[in-house]
Amino acid sequence: MTDVPTSTPIITRFAPSPTGLLHVGNVRTALVCWLAARATGGRFLLRLDDTDTERGSAEFAAAIEQDLRWLGLHWDGFARQSDRTDRYRDALDRLKAAGRLYPCYETAEELELKRKSLLARGLPPLYDRAALALTDADRARLEGEGHRPYWRFRMADAPVEWDDRVRGRVHFNGRDISDPVLVREDGRPLYHIGSVVDDIDMGITLVVRGEDHVANTAMHIQLAEALGATPPDYAHLSLIADAEGHGLSKRIGSLSLRSLREEGIEPMAVTSLLAKLGTSDPIEPRLALGDLVAEFDFAKFSRTIPRFDPAELERLNGRILHETPFAAVRDRLAALGLGAIDEAAWSVLRPNLQRLDDTAGWWQVVTGPVTPVVADADLLSAAAGLLPPEPWTDATWGEWTAAVRDRTGVKGKPLFLTLRLALTGLDHGPELRGLLPLIGRDRALARLSGPAA
Ligand code: GLU
Repeated sequence: MTDVPTSTPIITRFAPSPTGLLHVGNVRTALVCWLAARATGGRFLLRLDDTDTERGSAEFAAAIEQDLRWLGLHWDGFARQSDRTDRYRDALDRLKAAGRLYPCYETAEELELKRKSLLARGLPPLYDRAALALTDADRARLEGEGHRPYWRFRMADAPVEWDDRVRGRVHFNGRDISDPVLVREDGRPLYHIGSVVDDIDMGITLVVRGEDHVANTAMHIQLAEALGATPPDYAHLSLIADAEGHGLSKRIGSLSLRSLREEGIEPMAVTSLLAKLGTSDPIEPRLALGDLVAEFDFAKFSRTIPRFDPAELERLNGRILHETPFAAVRDRLAALGLGAIDEAAWSVLRPNLQRLDDTAGWWQVVTGPVTPVVADADLLSAAAGLLPPEPWTDATWGEWTAAVRDRTGVKGKPLFLTLRLALTGLDHGPELRGLLPLIGRDRALARLSGPAA
């Protein structure tokens, strides 16, 4: 046996629209795309679906790239739809020639009226194709009146089916889907044509996206076929709900990846959770994306709606830090002004961290200043007298407290808590066995004599 993946390499893409910050929902899509590609020795592409965006799109595009890099989801190829308009126009010309693209002139108000009247009659709000009945003369008149056409793809009245990697066999009929608009009145090609042409041109073999795109997929399959291409495979992930079971909105700022990062959440906490959400695997801390790659399998995904619980992310974050080796945080500690922390200090402090920047507080307990709490002055003075000379090791705490116990008769919790309160000013914290050698003899002696007068 070898480590070389045996399944066909998957070529996939993550295709966000740069209209906002990435949030846990689309980060999960990106991660699953990336894992599917890496698990099969395939390729992961980043594509910005920016055909229809103006608002802050350059800023959001940069933020998306930065966020993916922070997670470690590096891409093997990059494209933006706004650079590819010529390709879409070629495809649109071909659809026109094949009689699958037709001009429409209804205003938004007219369409809304039609929609309402269908709904009032209990019918699905499908476009009625009135524009197909227009004659050349009608169109000339409308254009003479200043109307510009927008263009719809004519869905075929035929079954559309696929084997979804998550949802299993999916069935649609083209007649149940409204003819989508592919070109706006101002001539700009829209998302649907861009997405299908790109997936064909880029050799995408698997599209992973949210289940809100299922009906789009039926349309995209007909579009790909109308362009003479074989559609890719599809995997539609269930949308994520919040901890109470409500849908997550794209714009929930508090769940943007950016805000999680600013709150001090580790990238591996995010990926450990999102890789397993909605799967049959337990959610456990993982220190490297490679572990998640090894465990990835579409067969583990279920169609039920998974809940994203920020408290679970918090717990994972702490558990990940407790296992993180010094080499992985050395530079980040230095950037926090904690370059004095060495490997030994890190291993003493990390079991008490929820966030990496908690380290600063615990490091201050080592270096001071701390305000000693004096619970028993006699005991502390006896303990000070028994402090051994340096060098100190892990064994010093045990030896010293045994000597104090033998001298004073105080033992167990009353002894340990009194020493902890004096040495750290706190009633909890890292193990004193590790902490004492970091504090060192001079500081320990000063603290045992109580707060400075
Ligand atoms: N831009 C679309 C979105 O953000 C992409 C969907 C797809 O993957 O095709 O929902």
